[in-house]
Amino acid sequence: MARGLLGLTVDELSAELGSRTRAIELLKWLWAQPWDRAELPDTVPGVSHRVWRPFARTHGLTPLAVRSRQQSPDGTLKYALGVAGGEVEAVRIPAKGRSTVCVSSQVGCTRRCAFCATKELGYAKSLTAEQIVAQVHLARAESPADFPVRNVVFMGMGEPMDNLDEVLRAVQVLTQGPTPQLRAESVTVSTSGVVPGMRRFLAESKASLALSLNATTDEVRDRLMPHNRTWNIGSLLDVLREAAARWPRRDTFVEYVLFEGVNDTDADADRLVTFFKDLPARINLIPYNPYPGTGLRTPPTERINAFHDRVVRQGQLCLVRWPRGREIAAACGQLVLAQNAQGFSPAPSAT
Ligand code: SF4
Repeated sequence: MARGLLGLTVDELSAELGSRTRAIELLKWLWAQPWDRAELPDTVPGVSHRVWRPFARTHGLTPLAVRSRQQSPDGTLKYALGVAGGEVEAVRIPAKGRSTVCVSSQVGCTRRCAFCATKELGYAKSLTAEQIVAQVHLARAESPADFPVRNVVFMGMGEPMDNLDEVLRAVQVLTQGPTPQLRAESVTVSTSGVVPGMRRFLAESKASLALSLNATTDEVRDRLMPHNRTWNIGSLLDVLREAAARWPRRDTFVEYVLFEGVNDTDADADRLVTFFKDLPARINLIPYNPYPGTGLRTPPTERINAFHDRVVRQGQLCLVRWPRGREIAAACGQLVLAQNAQGFSPAPSAT
């Protein structure tokens, strides 16, 4: 079977259906369908039977198997999803009249970040673009009308740069018209710092990049994120400097998970400011979501606030992202925990 319908671009559809008008009609129809539709119908409005029949014989839909839905009191909804070869999770986070969907790009992960539950799973497979897009299709179909899906973040299970062909395709599909037509800046792909992938992503996509930095010295980052030995902090900053020179209006998001006594000192705050002095970066401080057995702890709230204030006082854009969905283990780095507690096969999160 050829690639699933949800993973095809409007240009590919136009070529196969022989007209852009038909491709647009098909996309409008597709995104209005229930997320669990498994079979293509005999006819689709706007596409002639003669063209549709051979197309529908070749391409199928990519329904996900929803193994569970868990909702936290703050409205965050976590899905456990079966895909061929494993299980992943997606999270829908409602806020300020819109929803953000956090998607997974791999079953497991090849990286070994010390603070992330996903690393316990090892690596099983990379998702196809249609399996990534299907997570958004599901969350979008189930979003309340007053919280439509406007943002997508690749911060679930997996390192997106290790599955970049499919991630770039998924971004293209999510941002194309007529639907879902998300703004490129509203789609954010997060990386733990895979330099070749970052360079390619920045050159080939207009979507936002988020770098999960988490340390201000290589000594600490080597311990937290072992692949820092391959791509150290200096090389990550070089990529961001190159990008700033080439695309000066493009923002980069920097994720910095705070761990008590590891990376939360005043000296860390000062070094962080120095790193991004001349770069268009927005720093998100993320209080660590506890994960048993790591020996890592969340700093006290006063320390988090003091770190934040010290960074902001020096003129750097910086926010604290207080965790959502902690009650259902849907916060960054936690997703696999609740699944295991329920006896599901392991899954995901937290680049
Ligand atoms: S933080 Fe991201 S890159 Fe690191 S192990 Fe977890 S999923 Fe993989």
